[in-house]
Amino acid sequence: VPESFTRIQNYVKDKLSSQMVELFEACQQQPSDLDRKEACRARLQDDIQQIFPAARLYLTGSSMNGLGCRSSDADVCLVIKGNKRPNPVDVLSQLQRAFRPLAYVERIQLIRAKVPILKFRERGSYLEFDLNINNTVGIRNTFLLRSYAYADVRIRPMVLVVKKWARHNQINDASKGTLSSYTLVLMVLHYLQTLREPVLPSLQRAHPESFNPSMDIDKVPDGPKNIPPYTSRNQSSLGELLLGFLRYYATEFSWDKQVISVRDATTLPKTNSQEWRNKFICVEEPFERTNVARAVHEKLKFDAIKARFAESCRILHVRKDLNSILPFRTII
Ligand code: ATP
Ligand code: MG
Repeated sequence: VPESFTRIQNYVKDKLSSQMVELFEACQQQPSDLDRKEACRARLQDDIQQIFPAARLYLTGSSMNGLGCRSSDADVCLVIKGNKRPNPVDVLSQLQRAFRPLAYVERIQLIRAKVPILKFRERGSYLEFDLNINNTVGIRNTFLLRSYAYADVRIRPMVLVVKKWARHNQINDASKGTLSSYTLVLMVLHYLQTLREPVLPSLQRAHPESFNPSMDIDKVPDGPKNIPPYTSRNQSSLGELLLGFLRYYATEFSWDKQVISVRDATTLPKTNSQEWRNKFICVEEPFERTNVARAVHEKLKFDAIKARFAESCRILHVRKDLNSILPFRTII
């Protein structure tokens, strides 16, 4: 790969792009943040192994996928192997009792969602944990996203700015009926895959062995180790890509007819199947092909999301200033 493709400054030709890089550098997860998460993960794993000797705890989500901010939580998956699938809520209640006497955790809370989780905080820091049981698809998709994050230097700043924009506009909270961060990331990747001159390919298609869905879970973190960076002919600046992203979802994407598929690097027609029927937003999980945007089930919230895209698209095309849609003082 020629060096000219690998330097972010090659894609910073205007004020908007340089503002995006500035925001990215101020907000991105630091090595010290990851060290703190990893230290806490190791300590938790030791304590959990007192009850489940063969269990292993994996860091997942934005802590590991290259798309994290300094303020991102730590998503962790506890893998308990065995012939008999344990009931996640039973395991989490057991862990909740076991965690109470531990001096370094506080505010332990069991959430009985579709994927049940134990939420808690490391005492003395603001580090939040979301722990699930055997939701191993989260480990697989974390390393898929990580490969996308590093396939082109523009991906990480682009995704981080979109996440901050969505958070600022109050459309980044699945528990309140809007978009999860995971959904937003897939929406950005999809846009970059479907440009006339794509910035990204389908990595699952290009490297099927690295993302084999039945790969042993211990091997998943190293599965994509040897993927070379993708060399795109698309030379758009970061700012052009952000404008294009907003325009795509404000005016081009057909919410009622199309399903976003990052696995296939295209849109798929919205069929009448259980998964897509009566859903406002359809974004396919790259391994399980379920709808990751199913939290958006109220028309009012769906309309609010579309309105944010339309409004920000209009303003940014005129002003070409990141502050006009995402005031710096409100972030970081
Ligand atoms: P943030 O920085 O805001 O915490 P995040 O990348 O951690 O963002 P989340 O939406 O919190 O994103 O999701 C955390 C992880 O959980 C994802 O990276 C993914 O591995 C997994 N995940 C979330 N939603 C789903 C889903 N619907 N299906 C499968 N895996 C999911
Ligand atoms: Mg997270």
